[in-house]
Amino acid sequence: MLSQVSVQDACLSCGACCAHFRVSFYWAEGIDIPEHYVEPLTAVYSCMQGTNQTQAYCSALEGKVGEQVSCSIYSMRSSTCREVQMADEQCNKARHAYQMIPLMQIDTAQLSHEDGFAQIS
Ligand code: SF4
Ligand code: SF4
Repeated sequence: MLSQVSVQDACLSCGACCAHFRVSFYWAEGIDIPEHYVEPLTAVYSCMQGTNQTQAYCSALEGKVGEQVSCSIYSMRSSTCREVQMADEQCNKARHAYQMIPLMQIDTAQLSHEDGFAQIS
């Protein structure tokens, strides 16, 4: 499968995971998040506004998916947001939903200088 080596700032031109999954968390995590970005889900869980719907799209996401994005509450984002890592299963599932090339994680410690160029396979 065609894939692309993940680069440090790949998320800034993606945002797919913020516009694909329901982003829920234990309600207490939402205390620090401006309340218009949070909606109650159950008695003990909340989620990011806009993510509990078929076409999930977090209300805190700014910009355009696949072009340029940013999280307006980045430093306050929930543990659920922090769990998704570039090139992991969730990441690539979201990217697939937006027809974006999957990312491939590489161990940079094992690369020589010459291997450091972005590789497409
Ligand atoms: S889907 Fe992956 S690359 Fe895109 S923003 Fe989320 S973690 Fe970053
Ligand atoms: S809070 Fe930020 S990181 Fe989390 S889903 Fe929304 S835009 Fe993405």
